[in-house]
Amino acid sequence: MLFFKNLVNYFTINALEPELNRERFSALMKQVPLMYSILTVNLISLAYPHIGSAPDYLTIYIPAAFCLVFLYRNIVYYRTSLDNLKDDKIVKRLNSTVILSIIISIIFVIWAMVLAQYASDLMLVHIVFFLYITLYCCIFCLLHIMQSAIYLTLIIILPSFLYLITHEELVFKAIGVNSLLVSAGLIFLVTNHYKNFTSLVAQKIKLTEQSSQLEKLNQNNLQLANMDSLTSLPNRRSFFSQLGELTSRQDSLKHQTTIVGLLDLDGFKRVNDVFGHPTGDDLLVKTSERLHNILGEDIVLARLGGDEFGLIINKAEDVKNVIGVGEKICEAMRLPFKLREGSVQITATIGFVEYPTMGEDSKTLFERADYALCYSKQNSKGKPVIFSSDHETIIREVSSIEHQLHEADLNKELSIMFQPIVDMHSGKTKGFEALARWNNPILGYVRPDIFIRSAEQMGTVSKLTSILLSKALKLACEWPDELYMSFNLSIHDLSSPQTVLNIINIVEKSNFPNDRIVFEVTETAVMHDFEKANEALHMLKLLGAEIALDDFGTGYSSLSYVQRMPIDRLKIDRSFINEIDTDKNTRNIVRTIIDLCNNLDLYCIVEGVETEDQLAALEQVGGRYIQGYYYSRPLVPEDALDYLAQHIDMPKVKTLAEKWSNV
Ligand code: C2E
Ligand code: CA
Ligand code: CA
Repeated sequence: MLFFKNLVNYFTINALEPELNRERFSALMKQVPLMYSILTVNLISLAYPHIGSAPDYLTIYIPAAFCLVFLYRNIVYYRTSLDNLKDDKIVKRLNSTVILSIIISIIFVIWAMVLAQYASDLMLVHIVFFLYITLYCCIFCLLHIMQSAIYLTLIIILPSFLYLITHEELVFKAIGVNSLLVSAGLIFLVTNHYKNFTSLVAQKIKLTEQSSQLEKLNQNNLQLANMDSLTSLPNRRSFFSQLGELTSRQDSLKHQTTIVGLLDLDGFKRVNDVFGHPTGDDLLVKTSERLHNILGEDIVLARLGGDEFGLIINKAEDVKNVIGVGEKICEAMRLPFKLREGSVQITATIGFVEYPTMGEDSKTLFERADYALCYSKQNSKGKPVIFSSDHETIIREVSSIEHQLHEADLNKELSIMFQPIVDMHSGKTKGFEALARWNNPILGYVRPDIFIRSAEQMGTVSKLTSILLSKALKLACEWPDELYMSFNLSIHDLSSPQTVLNIINIVEKSNFPNDRIVFEVTETAVMHDFEKANEALHMLKLLGAEIALDDFGTGYSSLSYVQRMPIDRLKIDRSFINEIDTDKNTRNIVRTIIDLCNNLDLYCIVEGVETEDQLAALEQVGGRYIQGYYYSRPLVPEDALDYLAQHIDMPKVKTLAEKWSNV
């Protein structure tokens, strides 16, 4: 049964092999026109010599009808386009070719045999020659439809063999036997060829499948390489490739205004530190979901790494109202997040830059958005800032500051000013804070916070610290014995044992007593690398110096850090003092900090006191040690000595305190 089924499959066109059928038809299309052309030529060359010796219907009408059919078939093939043929149509066309080849070959055989009746022996040879040459030509042209080739051979060879073998001339008998054997050999070759052809097609199909699988795999890989696995957002690589596409555009959209944004979460590190990394991850996922909901599909949102996200805004109305979009994001980010450990609240800060006006390549765009972000973090945390020409000017100034810091004779150009720290109860000066000044021949006076930050970024701040500390210590030697000197250290001064040893070395070499030195450090400097900074502070303590925590209230103001650090003094930042005489809450905060200092036995200094009212308010909340313009602006060293001589006592406090007790 199975054998029979296989046999049937072998001799029919199988509709379940669409790819194979398509390949067969494609081969057929190339060969069939040639086959019909050869058939036409053969037919005419056979019929023509018989005109007159056989009836006209045999030599003219039937051949003419055949020629018309062949012409028609050629036109049909010529007009066929394989791409437009559906699989079932191809099967139909193949089947019809098989049937047609059977019909044509039967008619051919009958026609040839009838014609043979009118033929002499010579003409009979012509007819036999015609039949076989036509058959072999058709076999080769129909190689890819093995069924047709076999039917054709059987239909033509068997009757002609019988006819020739029964002929009285031996030569015809020999032709009959010979052609039978050759045809058997040809059938063997045809089936072999067909097997090779089908296995080639099968291999081709397999290869196509493999390459399409490979393509899919490549696409998956590409997707994975461009996706952040935690949030499923596009990643840094994808963001930069989109930025690259944007800036290398050559089409009409080349100069379409686009906004590039960088968003950074404020307070993420704390969530990570306090609750652990899984909760931090949870927060990042929820953040990306929230951002995605606000921004929709029109704005590209990518996670660049850590708690940093990138935005690309193309839509005209969003571009026009980019600060509005930024504010919407910042507002949404302020709402609490429900995490597995509980609810947390963070903020987001955003820096934007406009393409192409403020940057034409990805590097500049990224740097400038990053600058706007940092600028916002320092000046308006939790808000969006767009990079402007003012920022461009600052960047240019900073780069010339950096250049001059590198080139200048700092030993000559750096100097020190001293600002007194006064006990408001007695009016006595307790010490001075040394403040750096830089007068450069090209840049003029540069603000210390600016050039110190530049030197920190360049990594050369310890060179400045060495010069400034040596100068300050030398000058302080001229002061009365009870005065201390406060000196500011930066992040880099605390970052390595070498820089700390360098400071210790300078202190040891000076004639100023170690226990009259106070080193001021800010919370942010310590937080940068708490363990290292804490170690450095302990080394300075061993030297005999005291440590003051500067600008308290502007950074983390974390009590746990205050407790873990070897701090002797705390300086309340001047931002609290601005409103101390007008705002009750501020007064309460300052009172709490002063109480904290008293409880922890810390010496508390209040910075930035400018007016009598501020001083009075401070007296009311328990402040005592004051630094500010009210007593004195920073002074050149000689003026500091004059100041000491002139201001022995400043007992103004009592009357002020009376005034404030009525508020
Ligand atoms: P800082 O350590 O907080 O120094 C106090 C700053 O407040 C000084 O600014 C001082 O002039 C200013 N100030 C004092 N009283 C008042 C006041 O009543 N009102 C106002 N508006 N300001 C007042 P300065 O000298 O411009 O220094 C700025 C910052 O530069 C310093 O802030 C400090 O962070 C840094 N700095 C200064 N000298 C050095 C230094 O030698 N080394 C390091 N690493 N940093 C320094
Ligand atoms: Ca200071
Ligand atoms: Ca300060």
